[in-house]
Amino acid sequence: MNRVKKLVRQEIQDLSAYPVPDSDGMLKLDAMENPYTWPALAKETWSEMLKTLPMNRYPDPQAEHVKNELREVMGINKEYDVLLGNGSDEIIQLLAMALAKPGATILAPEPGFVMYKMIATFCGLNYVGVPLTENFELNENAMLAAMDIHKPELIFLAQPNNPTGNLWDQNSIEKIIEAATGLVVMDEAYTAFTDADHLELLDRYEHVLIMRTLSKVGLAGLRLGLLIGRSEWLNELDKIRLPYNINVLTQASVLFALEHYEMLLVQTEQLRVDRLILMKGLSNLDGFQVFPSEANFVLVRTKNDLARKYFEALKAKNILIKCLDGGHALLKDCLRITVGTTDQNEALVNALTEIAQSGLE
Ligand code: PMP
Repeated sequence: MNRVKKLVRQEIQDLSAYPVPDSDGMLKLDAMENPYTWPALAKETWSEMLKTLPMNRYPDPQAEHVKNELREVMGINKEYDVLLGNGSDEIIQLLAMALAKPGATILAPEPGFVMYKMIATFCGLNYVGVPLTENFELNENAMLAAMDIHKPELIFLAQPNNPTGNLWDQNSIEKIIEAATGLVVMDEAYTAFTDADHLELLDRYEHVLIMRTLSKVGLAGLRLGLLIGRSEWLNELDKIRLPYNINVLTQASVLFALEHYEMLLVQTEQLRVDRLILMKGLSNLDGFQVFPSEANFVLVRTKNDLARKYFEALKAKNILIKCLDGGHALLKDCLRITVGTTDQNEALVNALTEIAQSGLE
């Protein structure tokens, strides 16, 4: 339709929507979800509680109870504010909208989380991706040089990084923060799976904020992300947050989950143990290079040009993982596998072994 072509911004017409493959009936190891649900008793108490919720009323616009509970379980210092988003995706969007002056730039190391670039485009900002080194380390000099040229309003540093799963050198991170003339957001989406924690950067740098999400600890369906930092920043972002962005069901369910946080911790601990077993299993496969991971997924590199073949062969066996080959140049022959339950991981490794034995090449 001509009117669509005429009216919709060209950069939006040029985009493809965030790809979510059909996973009906498949073993889903592609999206960093927690594979566990809750014990029957917890589910029952939760669903009884849901029945009592006033669905005819708007939610609490500030969701103070949820914020307080988050402060408690995450050990967030009283002097910092918390802002909630409909997933951390929405927080990335709020940040981009707030900083989208004409010509403004978002910068992030690459390969990284694809939504940084997509949201920059949605909101009319420039985007600069700075390649990591071949080992997926931060390229400090390249970052500093790109920052010098582009003077980004906003830098995202995901720790651990998606899709590589690793942590970067802390000194390099701090050098980048110190050289930044804009805002630096540490994206700690995978914080539950690592001992590294960047909250203390808030004490030292006025231009750092910390972003987290509950998606990876078993609550992806509820959509709750949070931003932690100084009220000067968060007050401004709060002005553009839609007033009821966290719905009644999410608020009540998150509160319930946080009140039973040890239930989620048991699951993340299990995933951390199983991550090691999965990595070992994958590294026993012929030609598989397994990269270090501090997240709930593992990045592997196959032999030349086999990644997509493995991906397709797994799909034929009803197992869905993420094929990264064909995306960023540094991810040639790479696959990303989400850590599942002990049995799921075993099924995956067995399937890969069968595929390898049946001769892919
Ligand atoms: N940041 C990173 C690094 C991620 O990998 C993801 C999810 N893949 C997100 C943010 C977004 O998470 P959510 O919107 O579910 O909170």
